[in-house]
Formats: sequence, structure tokens, C-alpha cells
Amino acid sequence: MTETRQLRIGIMGGTFDPIHIAHLAIAEAVREEFSLDLVLFIPAANPPHKQGRKVEPAYHRLMMTQLATSSNPFFHVSKQELERTGPSYSLLTVREVQQRYGEAAELYFITGSDTINELHTWYHIEELLRECHFVGTTRPGAPVDEEALVRQFGALAREKIHFLAVPELEISSTVVRARVRAGKSIKYLVPPAVEAYIKKEGLYS
Ligand code: ATP
Ligand code: MG
Repeated sequence: MTETRQLRIGIMGGTFDPIHIAHLAIAEAVREEFSLDLVLFIPAANPPHKQGRKVEPAYHRLMMTQLATSSNPFFHVSKQELERTGPSYSLLTVREVQQRYGEAAELYFITGSDTINELHTWYHIEELLRECHFVGTTRPGAPVDEEALVRQFGALAREKIHFLAVPELEISSTVVRARVRAGKSIKYLVPPAVEAYIKKEGLYS
């Protein structure tokens, strides 16, 4: 009898305003290292952590996410948070993914280390940690405080939060937006199709 392996699914959540090459690089590194069958890129609708800053319309962020991921056969884009009303709580997103792929599927939420350090502020985080794994990839300027994680989440932290060292890229959407606004080049910081889209639509300037 052949054993069927559980599906392993990566969830790459973000505002993607715009998506940049560090997002793609960490998703690919985690996919490979954790033997994921696919990675879902899920643009956030109404980012609970970013209230106050004007975010580009969901339509543009979705288009750029599709353009950036289209050449990787493991990468897919899900509009689920954009189609939902109310804030983009990851707990709801994870439950929807679990429902779609079945109870046996194992979910891995892919993040940078800055996000791992802020997990304690997330909506119903303990429930979320029971329902999926987190992978924190190294990000410049954001060393992970593992002791704090264990203090905050106890055994759940050791069981469900994993770390992966990746080549660190000092890139953020904030930097990309600022460069466009200043008329500077964003070549090699975002994929060529995203660079062209930003120009064509006049975003961030
Ligand atoms: P902003 O500057 O607008 O906050 P961002 O570059 O941080 O944008 P987000 O959409 O906020 O991008 O991040 C989505 C996810 O990608 C988060 O988990 C974040 O930690 C991770 N991430 C973004 N940039 C990097 C990077 N350079 N290295 C590692 N992880 C990153
Ligand atoms: Mg961010």
C-alpha cells in the first residue's frame, strides 16, 4: 500500500504594496526547505496593522502579485481576503485555506522576522498557532527574540514557530514606494513586469 503524503501548503500573506523580490525569495526558500506543494500569495484587503496609511487599491496590488508570481509553477494567488468584508484576520484566512484543501493539509504561514516579533499582537494568535505553522525568515534589522516567543506562547512556540536563515535582502515596499516617489530606479528590486505596471499605472508617484 502506498502512503499518501499530506499536502503542505504555504501561505504568503502581505499588503504587497507593491510586491518585491524579497517576498518572492522568502516564499521560494521556504517552499524548498519545507517541501511545500504550493504557496498561496494572499494580498490583504484591509490590513489591521496598517490602518492610517493610504494603501493602493486592492485591484492594483492583486494585479502586481499575479504578474510577480506567474512564472513560478508552485506559486498561486488567492483573492480570498479581497473578497471578504471586514479586516483581514489571518485566522479566518487560514481556516478558509484549511477548508479548501481538507483537514489533513498542513499549513505554513511564511513571514519575515519582523512579523514573528509582532505575532503577540495578532487577533486570536494562540488559536492561529494551534491551526498552522509559522516560518520566520531572517530580515535585516529584525533579530528574532526567541526567549520572548517562548515567554509569550510557551510550548506552542517551540512546536509551531520555525526559523529559516535566508540571504538577507534589505528591501521593503516602503523603500520601493519612496524610490518611485523620488523618481529613482526600482529595477532589480521588483520583477520587471511589476516595474512596468507601476510605471504604466502611475502608482506611488
Ligand atoms: P511595508 O514596508 O509596506 O511594510 P513590506 O516590505 O514589509 O512592506 P509586507 O507586505 O508588509 O511587505 O510584508 C509581507 C511579509 O513579507 C511579512 O511577513 C514581512 O515580514 C515579509 N517581508 C517583507 N520584506 C521582507 C524582507 N526584505 N525580508 C524578509 N521578509 C520580508
Ligand atoms: Mg511590512
